[in-house]
Amino acid sequence: MLSFDQLSFWERQEYLEDNTFVIVGAGLVGMSAAIALRERYPNEKILILERGYMPTGASTKNAGFACFGSPTEILDDLSCMAEQSVWQTIALRIEGLQKLKERIGLASMDFDSCGSWDLISSNMNAPKSEELHYLNSEFERLFGFKEVYCNDTDKIEKSGFKGFTFAIKNQYEGSINTGKLMHALHQKCIAKNIRFLFSTAVLGWTATASEVSIETTFGLLRSSQLFICTNGFAQHIFKNELKPARAQVIITKPLSHQIRGTFHTDRGYYYFRDIGNRILFGGGRHLDLITETTEELHANSLIHEALIYKLREEILPHAPFEIDYGWSGIMGMGQDKQPIIRSVNKNVHAGVRMGGMGVAIASAVGDALSKLA
Ligand SMILES: Cc1cc2nc3c(=O)[nH]c(=O)nc-3n(C[C@H](O)[C@H](O)[C@H](O)COP(=O)(O)OP(=O)(O)OC[C@H]3O[C@@H](n4cnc5c(N)ncnc54)[C@H](O)[C@@H]3O)c2cc1C
Repeated sequence: MLSFDQLSFWERQEYLEDNTFVIVGAGLVGMSAAIALRERYPNEKILILERGYMPTGASTKNAGFACFGSPTEILDDLSCMAEQSVWQTIALRIEGLQKLKERIGLASMDFDSCGSWDLISSNMNAPKSEELHYLNSEFERLFGFKEVYCNDTDKIEKSGFKGFTFAIKNQYEGSINTGKLMHALHQKCIAKNIRFLFSTAVLGWTATASEVSIETTFGLLRSSQLFICTNGFAQHIFKNELKPARAQVIITKPLSHQIRGTFHTDRGYYYFRDIGNRILFGGGRHLDLITETTEELHANSLIHEALIYKLREEILPHAPFEIDYGWSGIMGMGQDKQPIIRSVNKNVHAGVRMGGMGVAIASAVGDALSKLA
């Protein structure tokens, strides 16, 4: 590939020169930040640099849950985090999902308001009715959502699941088609005159009072401001605050019957959903946390086997199935569940550490980032 100094006058003028905002990472956050910047700055030049030939983070690899929290996960968070911080995180998810729906439109990402179910395994305690009452009254008080969680234990038998004793439905959650969402965001960026350079990795940068010099695999380019949207790959910048976290999913071949909805079990450690008459199933990082703290996109056979076991014993106990696809993606995690949205210096800003909730929060994070410019 040609280095920047071998490019033509036209190429340099169009892509490399006079950039006001350069964004690193073409994931959900990078593209959302670009769109939010365009809304605030209609005439400035915006360029996204992506190291992969397509986005290579979590945004094209996730499970496509449009969710803001299962009751057992929220109760678990409330038991070990400050109450205010837990509700702030939920508020960001609700705000982000609302913004995403407005920006992309429901049809462009196949949004399915199918609802979600939190399945309680027979070896776990179900939330107490007063705990569900507290959650429901807080959702109504803070967000105006009525009866978010209700008992729907019949769903277990109707779906043919085994090993669960209690199911709680959330009528406000749903699913999306991850590929369609990313394509729709890309189309939106192009329509808003945002440029992309794919297969171009950022190796480092130097900021002065007035500009940032950005070193890439093909040479240097300059920008007035730089936005780091590399999520789980930003560990070198936020050493003590962020760790990469690999997550793994599998998808069955089409089944003879359909299970409808999105599901969480074991406080959110496992999750599954329908994709037509297939099942996507993921999770299990907690089984091998040290190995899974990595940027490497490999499969972990221990977790793969655990997923197959749970699929066979609990989710599809009455139906033979075969696995058609399996892959992993890298998330960015920290001690708490709030993302990092911060200026690193006057001209360099970062929006990273989306946890397992980037679909929900990316649009809100993009808006917050654009306000740092
Ligand atoms: C298996 C899995 C399932 C998930 N399921 C869900 C779900 O159902 N619902 C939900 O809300 N969230 C889910 N998530 C989390 C969600 O996908 C992420 O939080 C979200 O995609 C993060 O978006 P991002 O743009 O911050 O990061 P990313 O999508 O990781 O984007 C970062 C981009 O930066 C690029 N990059 C990195 N370094 C450089 C560099 N030096 N130069 C140039 N480019 C660089 C990467 O290639 C990448 O494209 C899941 C994640 C995984 C892995």
